[in-house]
Amino acid sequence: MDYSPSAKELSHFPFLKKAQDHIKKSFPPLDQLLKEEKGAFLVELAVKRINQALASKKTIAAHFQTRDDEEIASYVLARIIVSCVQDKQLYDRLARYEAERAYYFLNAETGSESEQGWNPHAVLDDDQNSRIANYLAAEFRIDLAKDRMPLADYVEIVSVLHEDRFKLVNRRVQNGQVGIKKEELLELLRERIRVILRRDLPYHVPKSLCAQLAPVTESIKCEYQQQMLQQFGAIEESAFPPCMQALITALTAGTNLTHAGRFALTTFVHTVGMDVPAIAQLYARSPDFDPEKTMYQVEHITGRGGSGTEYTAPACAAMRTTGLCVNRDAICENTNHPLSYYRYKKRELAKRPNKSEKNEPSPAKPEKVGVPGIKNR
Ligand code: SF4
Repeated sequence: MDYSPSAKELSHFPFLKKAQDHIKKSFPPLDQLLKEEKGAFLVELAVKRINQALASKKTIAAHFQTRDDEEIASYVLARIIVSCVQDKQLYDRLARYEAERAYYFLNAETGSESEQGWNPHAVLDDDQNSRIANYLAAEFRIDLAKDRMPLADYVEIVSVLHEDRFKLVNRRVQNGQVGIKKEELLELLRERIRVILRRDLPYHVPKSLCAQLAPVTESIKCEYQQQMLQQFGAIEESAFPPCMQALITALTAGTNLTHAGRFALTTFVHTVGMDVPAIAQLYARSPDFDPEKTMYQVEHITGRGGSGTEYTAPACAAMRTTGLCVNRDAICENTNHPLSYYRYKKRELAKRPNKSEKNEPSPAKPEKVGVPGIKNR
């Protein structure tokens, strides 16, 4: 498409190739930049960006009162920093944040009568799409003038959207094309941006560069862990999803778990706040229990080992593939991740006025089993 976005437009959509080209000559090589005052300032902006991505309440409006090239640089640096942190959930969060941010700027371009948009020079076509919107959509292979898209693209884009309207059964599918409503196009563009930005993470960052950024990556790791603990609160075993209950039951009954089962259980209980010794204790009843080996494996999975990589609990789709999705209940119907199940059920349990009350309606009644280091209800 023959259109050259302005610097302001590029700063709002910094993932565009033209945005990266725009700043190529503005800064020295990264290892050099990081030694300068300017580098420290840009790292600060990048961290702000990551913190925004991690915040439960996002404020996407242009909170960076900075130059356009600095804003683009902070986008690139944020992606480099999370690549050094090596946490898949951080990649997910940052990709989602950037996509939501782009969506915000697409919608806020021309503004309403009472509120002026950020782009007073926007020129709209017959479909009320601006030139930058069309340019962006073309880059991400979405045609804003069409009312359909290829089935494979659609399925990939909507995989994390749970609203019924996005389900294929509620769509017109013809000749490999899925029907789209005009007002959904920008939402789908947002999701396409998210998918692609996530797909490109992590970057292969040289170890020496990650070492330079180590103080920042460490503080982000700590902040994130703190946030996760706050988010999940005290461990509540009765809110565990059926798949995790089943794994614990199997362990308690003295069954050896498969590698996939161990991985799923360890990453799950680690994320909800169980410490390494308590996780290792979980495995003490396993017939082939080897304390040293278990500690090594647990430390490896939870990121305390040499690699520093903290693994994420598998989503429901992956659990199904490995045959670990068992005893599904009503909550599972609207869940795509065991951690979402846990968060939801924990909230529901907390709402109950009298926890000892009998015959409470509960869509899920997992068997209670004793787990070392966690509280039974
Ligand atoms: S649907 Fe998800 S949360 Fe429910 S049992 Fe299966 S894997 Fe676990």
